[in-house]
Amino acid sequence: MDKKATLRWYFGENRKEIHTRIVELVREMVKERTINVVTEKLPEYPFLKIRGEEYRVANIVKRELESMGIPYKEFSRAEGRPNVISRIGKNLNGKRLMMPAHMDIVPAGEGWETDPFEVVEKDGKLIGRGTLDNKGPLASILVAAEVIKKLGIDKELDGEIMIAALSDEEATDPDGTDYGIGYLVDEKLIDPTFAIVPDIGGNMKEIDVAEKGRAVYKITALGKQAHGSTPERGINAVYIMAKMVCELEKLKLDYQVHPVLGQPSLNLGEIHGGAAPNIVPGTCLIYIDIRTVPGMTKESILKQLQNCADSVPNGNFKIETQAWTEPHAIDPNNVLVHSIQRNASDVLGFEPKAFGMGGSTFAKGLNLNGVTAVGWGPGDDEAFHVSNEFVSIDQLIDFALMTCLIAVELLD
Ligand SMILES: [Zn+2]
Repeated sequence: MDKKATLRWYFGENRKEIHTRIVELVREMVKERTINVVTEKLPEYPFLKIRGEEYRVANIVKRELESMGIPYKEFSRAEGRPNVISRIGKNLNGKRLMMPAHMDIVPAGEGWETDPFEVVEKDGKLIGRGTLDNKGPLASILVAAEVIKKLGIDKELDGEIMIAALSDEEATDPDGTDYGIGYLVDEKLIDPTFAIVPDIGGNMKEIDVAEKGRAVYKITALGKQAHGSTPERGINAVYIMAKMVCELEKLKLDYQVHPVLGQPSLNLGEIHGGAAPNIVPGTCLIYIDIRTVPGMTKESILKQLQNCADSVPNGNFKIETQAWTEPHAIDPNNVLVHSIQRNASDVLGFEPKAFGMGGSTFAKGLNLNGVTAVGWGPGDDEAFHVSNEFVSIDQLIDFALMTCLIAVELLD
């Protein structure tokens, strides 16, 4: 039998054992409350000493890799927030396929029917915070590594599979310091050729080949404070901002429709102004979040925002760029996308379609640094960051098999 046939046979013969193995791994990882929020919100989670505490899940990952006999390295920008990267195969000048999953989670939030940190298995699904985002897929790729090692396929690969359990995907402090993929990329600690990021949902039917960029602006209207009983002596910054908000609502951003990403978006997400009823507000500020498509530049967007500001009579505004990431898009006609499509058609009976999204994943940082990275994986889009988060166990098993098949094909 060839390697792919052997893998399909193995998963067929051992599906029950693999099911149990994945469920147990997810159960154990979900118990660890690796909640990642900005430092400012940390006091709301008194059981956390630092945000994320991803080391709790990393300990499980390392234990498993050790028992499989798979070597790994640990890279941490800060104590307690490790990135565990294992390598299976031969380190010739071959190709490397990275499978990165993140170990941090968002808070449980409200509305759960069961304990979010005790996995419940029901109707073929696992329910709990992190079952889909991203501990379930992490269990899948660990099991894929285990099977490849167990069957001795690692010795026949011309390249390496990098199973990566990463920190810091769900939150970024205002200082912008990244402890996960950004750190690994900045410090040149990883060198993959390809990456599949299982963090987009779509039930394995969609391949994320493009992600919009993100630009966040803080706009402050500057007025003049005065006593609330004599508003004529002040300049009310809220009234000025109200006019600016109307201009922004009418704003048509300059762009060219992108074949995959389509058009940009603009969201006015926050507004703050005033301190008390008896004070004329001297400032009022808003935050806007623009998702960009290729071709849009920092300068051109800033100019358009300035034009809005200039059209407000007697307006006085300060516009500051708070965050800027570039959009990225790869040609869907590439070997990685084709391999996913071919194997999914053969095994799952459908061909995943290339698409683009407004949100961003680890794929962005990788692509912007020359790695052919896509988002693809199990799970329903609607199950991310909500109460009663769930993932289909069958999809987790299938994803483990698909990881093996795609790795074998790309690294053959
Ligand atoms: Zn995620």
